[in-house]
Amino acid sequence: MSLALVHYSCNLCGQEKEKILFERAVLAGSNVVVCMNCGLIYVNPRPSDKALNELYNENYYKGNGFDGTADYVADAIRSPFEQKTSAHFDVAVISDFVPSGGYLLDIGCGLGHLMKLAHARGYHVEGYDISPFAVEFVKKQGFHVYHSFGSIPSERFDAVTIVETLEHANDPMAIIKEAFRVLKKGGVLYIWSENFDGFVENILRRRKDRRFGYASTVGHINFFTTKVIKSYFLKIGFRSFITFDSDLYFRKNSQLYRFLYKLRLMRPKGVEDKVTTSYGRFIWLGGRRLVRFYRRLQGIPCNHFPIAVK
Ligand SMILES: [Zn+2]
Repeated sequence: MSLALVHYSCNLCGQEKEKILFERAVLAGSNVVVCMNCGLIYVNPRPSDKALNELYNENYYKGNGFDGTADYVADAIRSPFEQKTSAHFDVAVISDFVPSGGYLLDIGCGLGHLMKLAHARGYHVEGYDISPFAVEFVKKQGFHVYHSFGSIPSERFDAVTIVETLEHANDPMAIIKEAFRVLKKGGVLYIWSENFDGFVENILRRRKDRRFGYASTVGHINFFTTKVIKSYFLKIGFRSFITFDSDLYFRKNSQLYRFLYKLRLMRPKGVEDKVTTSYGRFIWLGGRRLVRFYRRLQGIPCNHFPIAVK
């Protein structure tokens, strides 16, 4: 793949004190670096905004683009249970902070998985995406989708979600600032991206760490740690953070969920899923605790960021 590469200064602090962590296997000359001043991990040099935007065309969404592992269009028409999406999890978390009926904006909405689920739960949902293909795809399903930040009214939303999007952007600062602008006072920002706490240690210890591949995906530009995400929030003016216990929410695509579902210990109830027996609850929560214990043993932190409150 040949894309012209541009050199950027650190997106969080603006400095150019970077140290190379490793050279990427994709895009010759592009490295994964860490900012010695603030700790943001990013790719430098990297494709320009224009080149990046062009990556997210119809081919990308049909699994023929730079990320051949993703066939989002096929996923979108499969049954919800089979979707390779963790949107159920995201919506479950949001619903604990913003009651049904609230206004929600999904930035980087893609083909609208999260929007559909949030809509089914009674939220007033709108989306934003840079991809004209994605915007048209979601509009056809009756949703309102913005293609430019300028057209989104200020202080309109109770919740903004940015899920698996920020790592793709050249300018996360601009995106989080827009999220802040369009949130009502007291509104919440939910960000999901891979958490790179302990990144260097993990790379050095186990070169096959899955996050190594994650950092080498063409479209992935920025990698965040909890400290870095909090620095963004503080710089932009968010009032406070809420940390939540991710083990209390279900990931429908997890092996444990599927196992319990087969044993009829986990049953869907409307769009909300619950462990319906005490055995099921014992296995589910026990399983989640085991995973947490393993993570701690390996020095891998929990992989979610705190929620920011405006
Ligand atoms: Zn920096």
